[in-house]
Amino acid sequence: MRYERYHIPIETVPTTAPPVPKFIITRASNCVNCGKCEKACIFGVHKRKEGDPREMADPLSHLCKNCFRCISDCPQRALTMSLGQDYRALGHGIWTPLRVSTIWGEAETGKIPVLGAGYRGMFAGPDFDGVWTDMSEIVRPTRDGIHGRETISTSVDIGRKPLFLAFDTEGALTTELAPVVELSVPMMLDATRLEAAGPDVLMGFALAAKGLDTFLLVPRDRITKELMEAAPSQIVPVLSEGTDVKSLEVDPRTRMVELCVGASWKNWAKAFAKRFPDKVLSLRVQASKGVEETVLEMLDAEVPVAHLEYDEDGREQGRGETRHAKDSLRAVHRAMTAKGVRDEITVIASGGVAAAEHVPKTIVCGADAVSLESALMVALSCRHCSTCRPSSCPASIGAAGPDWVRGRVMNMVGAWRDQMLEMLGAMGIREVRRLRGEVGRAIFYDDIQKEFLSILSGGGEHG
Ligand code: SF4
Ligand code: SF4
Repeated sequence: MRYERYHIPIETVPTTAPPVPKFIITRASNCVNCGKCEKACIFGVHKRKEGDPREMADPLSHLCKNCFRCISDCPQRALTMSLGQDYRALGHGIWTPLRVSTIWGEAETGKIPVLGAGYRGMFAGPDFDGVWTDMSEIVRPTRDGIHGRETISTSVDIGRKPLFLAFDTEGALTTELAPVVELSVPMMLDATRLEAAGPDVLMGFALAAKGLDTFLLVPRDRITKELMEAAPSQIVPVLSEGTDVKSLEVDPRTRMVELCVGASWKNWAKAFAKRFPDKVLSLRVQASKGVEETVLEMLDAEVPVAHLEYDEDGREQGRGETRHAKDSLRAVHRAMTAKGVRDEITVIASGGVAAAEHVPKTIVCGADAVSLESALMVALSCRHCSTCRPSSCPASIGAAGPDWVRGRVMNMVGAWRDQMLEMLGAMGIREVRRLRGEVGRAIFYDDIQKEFLSILSGGGEHG
């Protein structure tokens, strides 16, 4: 067998949607067409008019990188810059304009974004912004170390792993091994909650899942013959609550099946394991208050995969006080490690993954892998409007072809994986499996704030 190093091929896949410039450059009427701004701007914002080179054309604001050089070089003080109104209106909730536009750039180029001009934001905030990773143990200081000769594995195992192996007196293995699937990245594509994804978009996701060596989760009633043939080992049918397990038919090439959890899931899981011993079963549960108890019940019932579904902002679902995934997952992880059974179940988390850094942070908090949902649509130039209507979609998502979708999604996942490699390299961790639950290698803003306040008040263990 020939050794092939895992690699995500990237290529430039331009958007077909109209640009949404972050910075709008305006040229006032006192411009004397001297052309100094054209020389000043290395990004090509300022050009002369094609038909009449005596005059300057309107600035191509979407190319502007906010360096202010043209503004300071203009002898007439004729140029001004402002924040674009359309840009400010992008996204909602945790989907800030910066996160949406960053994903657009990643999906177009497949490269790690370089924002330039220095970081001028806050160093802590709510939810994942309040998690910092300890990057003090750099594997190698050069980029070539991480992306070149040095190997950092991003593979994860999905399924139930025995805590130990038993052998008989003859040395033969007596432990019954449950099916386990290895994926090359800890990111699955998940169209279960993406109702705006039409057949061509789903086909593009399937092709991307195949190229990435990961799963695509799709509601069973949306799986067509063509989709199944395009990526038979990648498609994970998501079954609705109440599906009859006795009459269930599963394609022999399917490796994992997911069930949305209802009241009688224990009997269902037992019956499934009996009928399909070679398939991994994932139970999808809405993460809500006390989700750690549900995961422990799943462990008792020998369910191999728990898929915890958070809302779009990464919070537990349900009324009353809800936790963010970073706290909820830590509670799940703690509950399992306290019983010494963490490796017996795989935890997938979905919801609230809106940036590359959210993937390793979700894993640090205790998940084995994440499933990407809205980020997939944003990769297709979606603006994440709060009132999504395919008929009036400014990004024409409905018209996206499968190859274009595949390219954009692979680029985004490629850029996110590269950022994870940077992070793992800086943390001195050589495989993403070892990042899971490594809370000792992370700092939680809420925790240090409590500790600090405790010191100030002279109380607690630090008093
Ligand atoms: S540098 Fe100023 S005056 Fe000269 S062409 Fe540009 S905007 Fe006009
Ligand atoms: S601010 Fe910089 S990048 Fe933007 S138009 Fe002027 S010179 Fe070009």
